[in-house]
Amino acid sequence: MTESLPNIAIQPLPSLSAKDMPVDILRLDELHPVISGNKWFKLKYYIQDAIEQGKDTIATFGGAWSNHIVATAFASREAGLRSIGFIRGEESATPSSALADAQRYGMKLVYIDRARYRDTTSVRTQYADGNLYWVMEGGYGVPGAKGAADILKTARTSPYTDILCATGTGTMAAGLIAAAQPHQTVTGISVLKNNHNIESDIESLLPAGHRPFVINHEYHFGGYAKHPKELVAFMNELWNRERLPTDIVYTSKLLFAAKDLLGKEYFAPRARILLIHSGGLQGNRSLPPGTLIF
Ligand SMILES: *Cc1c(COP(=O)(O)O)cnc(C)c1O
Repeated sequence: MTESLPNIAIQPLPSLSAKDMPVDILRLDELHPVISGNKWFKLKYYIQDAIEQGKDTIATFGGAWSNHIVATAFASREAGLRSIGFIRGEESATPSSALADAQRYGMKLVYIDRARYRDTTSVRTQYADGNLYWVMEGGYGVPGAKGAADILKTARTSPYTDILCATGTGTMAAGLIAAAQPHQTVTGISVLKNNHNIESDIESLLPAGHRPFVINHEYHFGGYAKHPKELVAFMNELWNRERLPTDIVYTSKLLFAAKDLLGKEYFAPRARILLIHSGGLQGNRSLPPGTLIF
């Protein structure tokens, strides 16, 4: 998975575009059905590094609905490595579809109670083993950002002045900021509530003298994975108008933010806006059937 970069489609979004201000979206979600979207980019240098270090197992952390857990399980297996997922919380009698998938891809799951989960260092110490290559929750880290920097090379992205992405750990945003050109501004839409460390988390992944960037904290809709009716209605409307599928955790909030900011004339005149569709559609399986029309 480290060879050449894929070509990714850019889809115009007429219903979001204003006069003289086109809005397009980079469809990373179409890259792969399992290692969807940004996870493919964030994981590739970790996997390469693990192999170079002669490790045989990728160990990482995540919650029951973590896209990162599923992607790590699949990507590890594809690279001929084993994987262990340390999962936050108690084992449930009916595992989430994400965890069921991860197990199907050969991941060993170890449940860690919530209090202990906060201290990943102690978990790492307890399970220390020379064959393990550790990846932080969400793939946060410099190799993850380095992989995400390749996202802008998958299509003709240089004409855009503004690049917007959903932001969880900030790893993808850091990669985009590192790869952006001088005429481009990266704006991350934070999907977590009260995520006041996100700016410094991103800065820690960037070299000194990096380009300025913006994190917007206004569109988390109540917090991580919270999806009020208004957001779900917006997702269905977007599907009707653009045939664009979005997920409840990340990309729906990005799209809503883009639409709202355009309505508020937030962008400079003649801006050209590129949204990053970072994938994550499998997360919609947590919704009751029939909630979404796609
Ligand atoms: C994991 C994920 C993100 C968050 O990326 P970060 O690098 O953690 O900020 C955004 N979108 C989707 C669909 C994801 O699965």
